[in-house]
Amino acid sequence: AKEAGKKGYKIFKEEMYMQKIEFIDMKKSLKHGVENNEFILYYQPIIDLKEDKIIGSEALIRWNHPQKGRIPPNNFIPTAEKTGIIKDIGKWTLETACTQYKNWIDKGYNPNKISVNMSAIEFRQKKLVKNIKGILEEIGLEKKYLVIEITENTILEDLDYTIDVLNELKKMGIRIALDDFGTGYSSLNYLKKLPIDFLKLDKSFIDNVTIECKDQAITKCLIRLAHNIGLQVVAEGIETEEQYNYLKTINCDLGQGYFFNKPLPAEEFVKILN
Ligand code: C2E
Ligand code: CA
Ligand code: CA
Ligand code: CA
Repeated sequence: AKEAGKKGYKIFKEEMYMQKIEFIDMKKSLKHGVENNEFILYYQPIIDLKEDKIIGSEALIRWNHPQKGRIPPNNFIPTAEKTGIIKDIGKWTLETACTQYKNWIDKGYNPNKISVNMSAIEFRQKKLVKNIKGILEEIGLEKKYLVIEITENTILEDLDYTIDVLNELKKMGIRIALDDFGTGYSSLNYLKKLPIDFLKLDKSFIDNVTIECKDQAITKCLIRLAHNIGLQVVAEGIETEEQYNYLKTINCDLGQGYFFNKPLPAEEFVKILN
């Protein structure tokens, strides 16, 4: 037993070592990736469920690694956050998405609002509001087009600070969405305090919303609650016509998911705009 324990410890140490190497590797190639433009944005349409029209899109990042191929965000955002590289990636994302939107608008398209994801570490940057303002003004995109998506992680770190920053962004005309609602420590207390515009109901509620009584009860109730405090609700991960129809009947405002469109490269997204 002692031997086995020793062996287990050795394996454990080796695993830690490997993880450390992978981490350092990842950090290096993320830096390299930022410098060499290996990232690309996809745009997933957000649909107004009442009018059946596109009211905007969410920018979703992909990494085209020269050796490893396409890496999905869930495989590199956590490391980007731990290493702080997320700040560079976030800046790139905001600039790229806004430049793309300005470009489409100048060409006469109506892509509506652009939602950009922002992680807690980006949100904590000292000059965040000033930087965002600077980027939008330099690009010449009107502030009303931008929606910033934050998650509960951001709020949990410091509720009062979050409220202050969000208020400054709101004063500028930028909208705020609370992403992945219902996955973390969702508290109705902060829902009351936060100056947000959209509540994004996590896909985990939507998956079984046509068959599970409990998911139906929760979803209906959250939609009514959101409406009562002046928020619009976005249902994430709508994959079937049944889900779409059901969400319409319970007055969900907006939706996003493979039933409508997968995230699309810029040139494909622009084709489906009127
Ligand atoms: P998220 O913000 O919750 O984005 C929604 C995710 O659900 C996206 O995954 C999207 O492709 C996927 N999705 C949309 N509709 C459906 C559907 O009908 N079925 C299924 N199965 N999936 C659907 P993606 O693009 O892999 O992004 C994963 C996460 O990575 C995002 O979750 C977000 O947290 C993060 N992320 C993506 N881009 C950025 C970025 O530019 N900055 C930051 N900080 N995070 C990002
Ligand atoms: Ca999001
Ligand atoms: Ca989400
Ligand atoms: Ca998510």
